[in-house]
Amino acid sequence: MIGLLQSIGLAKSLCSACGLNFVGKEQGFLCESCLQSLKPYHPMDYSKRIEYVFSYRIYGLYKDVLKEVIQSIKFENSKRLAHRLGGIIKEHIQEYIEEVQPDLITYPSLNLRRLWSRGFNHMEEVLKGAGVPAIKLFKRRDFKPPLAYLDEQERARVVKEHRLKEEFIEYLQGKRVLIVDDLLTTGSTIKRLAYLLMSVGAEEVHAYFIAKA
Ligand SMILES: [Zn+2]
Repeated sequence: MIGLLQSIGLAKSLCSACGLNFVGKEQGFLCESCLQSLKPYHPMDYSKRIEYVFSYRIYGLYKDVLKEVIQSIKFENSKRLAHRLGGIIKEHIQEYIEEVQPDLITYPSLNLRRLWSRGFNHMEEVLKGAGVPAIKLFKRRDFKPPLAYLDEQERARVVKEHRLKEEFIEYLQGKRVLIVDDLLTTGSTIKRLAYLLMSVGAEEVHAYFIAKA
């Protein structure tokens, strides 16, 4: 019954950001006023250089509502919320795309275990929601736990499991690529992906993150 009510938008839910009751219209995790409060964070600190990355842009800080949205998408497997987040960052990412003029846009692949348990690649869905056409350039070999649970040495090893799909290697020569990811933490993943692209002759790699941890 609750499922039915929620599907037609009548059931009440508790917003995971503000804790208030709301009528779950679409995704059932966060209320409209929390979602609508999301704005690009300004001024963002871009002083940290990321090796192999020419420029990067970040939507917001990984806290409060934005953190709740990202966690609900990833850990509650909410594809609808992923689309919604895409709509929220749309203007901001489109502006950056205008500026960078990439030849192609891509996102990291998930490890298979994560993909199977979630059922979708959340960044692929966020980009669909933002109306940004993207190509899956990367693949993963590993079945390892998420990076957050690993120490530095294990993390470095797991990061190396990101590979380029062979069929794109020749095509990437001279290309300007934009990689879109959810979180900028240590930068080790984006550095690896950018390195892979540069090593096959990409001209420039740029990066867009939804949040900075
Ligand atoms: Zn709320």
